[in-house]
Amino acid sequence: VPVLPYRGRFAPSPTGLLHAGSLTTAVGSYLEAKRHGGEWWLRMEDLDPPREMPGAADAILRTLQAFGFEWDGELVYQHDRHELYRAALAQLVAQGDAYGCACTRKEIAAAGRHGADGMVYPGTCRHGVAPGRSARAWRLRVDDSLTAFHDRLQGEYGQRLQSEIGDFVLLRADGFWAYQLAVVVDDIAQGMTDIVRGADLLVSTPRQLWLRQKLGGPAVTHCHLPLMVNAAGEKLSKQTLAPAIDARSAAAELRQALTRLGHAPPPEAGEVAELWQWARHNWQLARVPAGPIVIA
Ligand code: GLU
Repeated sequence: VPVLPYRGRFAPSPTGLLHAGSLTTAVGSYLEAKRHGGEWWLRMEDLDPPREMPGAADAILRTLQAFGFEWDGELVYQHDRHELYRAALAQLVAQGDAYGCACTRKEIAAAGRHGADGMVYPGTCRHGVAPGRSARAWRLRVDDSLTAFHDRLQGEYGQRLQSEIGDFVLLRADGFWAYQLAVVVDDIAQGMTDIVRGADLLVSTPRQLWLRQKLGGPAVTHCHLPLMVNAAGEKLSKQTLAPAIDARSAAAELRQALTRLGHAPPPEAGEVAELWQWARHNWQLARVPAGPIVIA
């Protein structure tokens, strides 16, 4: 079996500026790629205009540059890639794996099933939409076998997709592509081999592995870095008002991100370049904590 060279990525959604949580994820995925002598690509996941913040994509790029991140390959924007997503959906429909769904959120909620990630789709339209109704969204058929994988940091994780998630959305009723579809199509199209990202996405990974297999994508490894939470235990995000990273204090921010990842730099590494040099020499995934990290 030929061993592919390592190719990883950081895939921010420009729904807000980088904050301590997303910076830490970027640092971890970058160092893990460098540790393997691999490539690190950047992909802007701008598929959800209603949730996006004007100017955030450019601001994220400027911040990453100011921190000294260097990326490989072509920087892609998901808004340019609708053709790829359309082709993937067409393939899944042709295979009999995807189907149109007429259900509203209200109808799905009325079924009253809760699972690993919110409401479970009860499968109403699996065998066709009811007469007089028309498809609003497209879903991927799943089954109830265990879809499991070994996460390089979190260990074994799996779901029985049909009962814990349900057939999931690929193309949303509002006409936008679902994150689940776009991320898998892009990871396959861009030849990603190793996915390192935040632990908030662990719950999505069985869906993505299922979809990857339906699309005939090659195997990948996963590593979900610890979640950053505030004192109330909430994930740092725009919703919890996580403050944006200030690139003017890049050295202090980088030192903090490394410390959170179990790699406290020595005091003599003062500048950004010295911190990176130290981190690239000393990085070991075994030192990274798996559990949530509380950021005051
Ligand atoms: N765009 C996603 C986010 O910002 C990350 C996707 C991924 O790394 O798979 O949460």
